[in-house]
Amino acid sequence: MKEFKIAVIAGDGIGVEVMEEALHVLNVLQDYEKDLVLHMEKLPWGSDYYLENGSMMPDDGLDILKKFDAILFGAIGDARVPDDVTIWELIMPIRKQFQQYVNFRPVKSLEGIKSPLSNVDNIDFVIFRENAEGEYSNSGGRMFDSQSSELAIQNTIMTRKGIERITKAASDYAVKNGKKKVTSATKSNAVIHAMKLWDECVKQTVLIDFPELQLESVYIDALVAYLVQRPHTFEVVVASNLFGDILSDLGSAIVGGLGLSPSANINPEKKFPSMFEPVHGSAPDIAGKGIANPIAQVWSAALMLDHLGRKDLSTKIIKAIEEVLSEGKVKTADIGGNATTKQMGAVIVEKIKDQYINEKMETP
Ligand code: NAD
Ligand code: MN
Repeated sequence: MKEFKIAVIAGDGIGVEVMEEALHVLNVLQDYEKDLVLHMEKLPWGSDYYLENGSMMPDDGLDILKKFDAILFGAIGDARVPDDVTIWELIMPIRKQFQQYVNFRPVKSLEGIKSPLSNVDNIDFVIFRENAEGEYSNSGGRMFDSQSSELAIQNTIMTRKGIERITKAASDYAVKNGKKKVTSATKSNAVIHAMKLWDECVKQTVLIDFPELQLESVYIDALVAYLVQRPHTFEVVVASNLFGDILSDLGSAIVGGLGLSPSANINPEKKFPSMFEPVHGSAPDIAGKGIANPIAQVWSAALMLDHLGRKDLSTKIIKAIEEVLSEGKVKTADIGGNATTKQMGAVIVEKIKDQYINEKMETP
């Protein structure tokens, strides 16, 4: 029997609402799987915590988290707290301290969900976004100079080690999942020194360590156009922090929107816990109404189980989500229906239970 300690940080707004449904799904799986034990501990960190205590998490928050096998995260963001506080005092320290340098975001067409693109074939690719360095750095600042009076400098920091390890993670995934091609997002045609290093390191890593893979390097501006024109031609996309951020929102949009998009922040070495969270934020415009789509959060829990070595259970959850969507009877507002968060959670749970019942009937 394998026991896992899971830290549950629901956060703010709809984070709290969608997390309830993810926990519901995990608890049902535990009921059926006698050899699965999840010790789930809810940590009340987020904006309410900040308003009470003056910080998004306790001083020893990261030490507390270190003892868990994984972190299931909802969303944060609250009108009463500046966004840079919520993000830089909770999500960023977790990603950085725990060396979660891989941000993994699957982009997959779902039956029953109409893409805003016309005439697209099956879309099924994954984005590996570099999650620890790059364009999102603290280096630089705003200042005054005599000529222009005010200016800002933003430094991009890319390291050979950082580029090689994200490329390796993307390529490992490609090989393990029978993919043939890795696409690297670049902008080395402009005078961006960091992107020249990016190209060189990506190329060397794939050529030397993964000769069986085909590597294509595509300028980011062309790549966004291709993702609209022929998204089905991509398999694995590896991108820097900023490019990966932008590509993943586009990816989410072409397969049905934020309510459906999960993500994983992974420390591949498993030295530290990894964190699983929907791509979306706390959605203040619909928070408290009970109408948020819980699928992105439930799917994030599926990615977590996969990471913990239970791909079988992850597959069960994703299959249940696909069935619910293809039937199209229960839909939340974001995908054109009027079901509540709870109703959507309940029907996913029902589909999971059906899978166990069917398995039992097949193996008497
Ligand atoms: P958002 O993702 O919260 O919302 C964007 C739009 O998508 C809104 O119209 C919202 O209603 C809709 N939406 C998002 N998730 C949905 C779901 N599950 N079901 C149905 N509709 C959904 O992004 P935003 O409005 O730009 O940001 C709101 C707050 O969230 C801000 O404070 C921002 O900083 C924060 N944020 C946090 C994270 C995170 O926790 N990782 C990520 C993005 C934004
Ligand atoms: Mn983003």
